[in-house]
Amino acid sequence: MLFDILKFGYNFIAEYSSEIIDVFDRDSLTCIYASPANKKILGFEPEELIGQHCLELAHPEDREFVQELLQEGLTKGTISAEYRHRKKDGSYFWVESWGYPIKQAGQTDYILVITRDIHERKLAETALQLSEKRYRLISENARDLICVIDAKNFKYLYTSPSYNLLDYAEEELLGQSCFNLIHQGDRPLAFTKLEEWIKKGWGSYKYRVLKKDGSFIWFESVGRLFESSDSSEIIVISRDISESKRVEEALRSSKERFREITDNMLDVIVMFNRDGVVNYVSPSCQNLFGYSPEVLQAKTNLELVHFEDRSHFIHVVNQAIRKQSPVRLEFRCRHTRGYYVWLEAAGNILVDDNNNYKGLVFAFRDIEARKQAEQKALTNESRVIEQYNFLNTVFDNMNEFCYTYDENYNITFVNKKTTEGTGYSREEMIGQCILDFVHPDDREMVRSLARQRLQNIDIDRYEHRLLCKNGQELLVHIKGSPLVNNGKITGAVIVCDDITEYKKLQSEMTRLDQMHTLGEIAAGIAHEIRNPMTTVNGFLQLLARDEDFSEKKEYLEIMIEELNRANGIIGEFLNLARNKIVDLEACQINQIIRFLAPLLQADAFLSDRTIILKLGDVPDLLLDVKEIRQLIINLVRNALEATPRGGMVEIITQHENKAVLLSVRDQGKGIPDEMIEKLGTPFFSTKDDGTGLGLAICYGIIERHKAKLHIDSSPSGTTFTVKFNCQSQLT
Ligand code: ADP
Ligand code: MG
Repeated sequence: MLFDILKFGYNFIAEYSSEIIDVFDRDSLTCIYASPANKKILGFEPEELIGQHCLELAHPEDREFVQELLQEGLTKGTISAEYRHRKKDGSYFWVESWGYPIKQAGQTDYILVITRDIHERKLAETALQLSEKRYRLISENARDLICVIDAKNFKYLYTSPSYNLLDYAEEELLGQSCFNLIHQGDRPLAFTKLEEWIKKGWGSYKYRVLKKDGSFIWFESVGRLFESSDSSEIIVISRDISESKRVEEALRSSKERFREITDNMLDVIVMFNRDGVVNYVSPSCQNLFGYSPEVLQAKTNLELVHFEDRSHFIHVVNQAIRKQSPVRLEFRCRHTRGYYVWLEAAGNILVDDNNNYKGLVFAFRDIEARKQAEQKALTNESRVIEQYNFLNTVFDNMNEFCYTYDENYNITFVNKKTTEGTGYSREEMIGQCILDFVHPDDREMVRSLARQRLQNIDIDRYEHRLLCKNGQELLVHIKGSPLVNNGKITGAVIVCDDITEYKKLQSEMTRLDQMHTLGEIAAGIAHEIRNPMTTVNGFLQLLARDEDFSEKKEYLEIMIEELNRANGIIGEFLNLARNKIVDLEACQINQIIRFLAPLLQADAFLSDRTIILKLGDVPDLLLDVKEIRQLIINLVRNALEATPRGGMVEIITQHENKAVLLSVRDQGKGIPDEMIEKLGTPFFSTKDDGTGLGLAICYGIIERHKAKLHIDSSPSGTTFTVKFNCQSQLT
């Protein structure tokens, strides 16, 4: 029947149509006719297709839906489907098939299928679908607000879900004019902008968008025109810029405020660019140094900085740049009138967004008044320093030791006399406890007195021994008083005399005084004794000449001799007298010693001791020979008495530094310290048969010769050294 149809009507069409025309059996759905177009489009010979199932060549993924369509469609009538069809080379391509049931006697016998190649169209379509899908995905998920506006009436065609930012639902917006959402104030310009976008194809605009509640948000929108043959749309992507707008606004107002501040400030604000050129000066510069801002603009103005301060100024600025830190300096700046004003500058560097150095900002302030005050303070200070120096000089020129200590007895100040007297340096004393410098035996006493002083208890003057650096002891006489600061005792000040020499002198004085008294007594006694002795002597001489006593003459002469001897002793005793006249003559001391030597040696020999002479080459001295003999005899006798049997005594003379030293050295046990002070005191003797006059006479002789005695004693022996000064002797 089909063939009849084909034969009688469609055969011609089928054979020449560029579309595929196939005929399938209604029941088996197998091909019973395939048009030649099959060859052209699919590559199959029509014969190859005969007997094949209609779904045989459909893409496996599409088969199911095509079959469903087929089943359902055949009952309805015409069906159509787009699906992928296999070609002979195995590739698939998109086709559109139309199926027409061909009925005969009310019953479908065949299906006529016309298949058309829609591959190109389909590909374009899916590509579009894909990109559309992609765009939708982006737009629906973007934070930016995306919409599509009809370029003809500016109505919304699409709005992305992010439009909920404005509290509108999509359906409320679609079909609405986009102008409804634009702030009244921005509408006219928005219109111009849109027109412009359409003309240019794209553009952007910042404007306020109204929310549903009437409030607005700042938007920045970018639009692009899309035109096709039948439509013209603008895709608009908008962003909420209220935050940046606010920052911008804040920045602007802060800038304005900054300018307002700097313009009205007393301080001068100067900004330099990275080349050190001024690019802003606040108007107050006029008041500060007379220049108008315009004059200072676009220059470094370094010449206005006082030349003495210029290098420092540059140095500080460079430092600020290098260290990226704020700086402060003072310098003098030239006023238009020519004089200089003292300015204080506080500066900091300016950086751009990327933290790169772009310049400096400085605030200059007039500190002339302060400088003057400072100068005044400085003068006051120098006055104070002057006073301080004066006081120091006073302290250092004091003949007394003066020092202060704090409540812990630590020394806080010492004057020059103290350091000179003790041999310690100022550094060695300050901070040390005063007790460190006190003789151990006196420490307890000093500690308790110092404590009392800090308790403001009145203390009498007292004496104690100070220890010098070289181990020497000084006897000091102390007077101190507490130091009061703000009503509180914070320490004490001590003034003390070194009375070591004084004490020595005192004992010397006592001794001299005794000698003096003794001398006077001696002179008196000698006189009183000599008178009767002269009488007795006279009578004895008379008697000796008398014939009657010729037998007894021998006795009488002995008596006269003895009386003369006694007179001699008294004469010796008179040596102690104060105003004894010395008979000085230039002579060699060595000669005196040699003259005496046999006598002394005999004396020594008798007691089993030896005398050794060590006589150096010495100049002549002015001496009273008799007295020096006496001196030597007395010293040697004491030395022999001190030296044990078998020992020796040396008599030494030396010439040393314009002086002649006469020393008598023994090998005795030495003289205890405490005794040395007493030596020379008349009648001081440790010997049973001693007179205690030997040394007293020596001291007198030494004194009359303006010589000095030095005693050096140790347990292995004592040396008495008399130092005669050549110069004072001969002048
Ligand atoms: P005298 O010899 O009569 O005792 P001096 O005046 O000569 O009196 O001496 C006084 C004292 O000094 C002596 O008793 C003795 O204790 C002491 N003295 C003097 N010379 C020495 C000496 N070389 N060694 C030890 N002691 C001495
Ligand atoms: Mg003696």
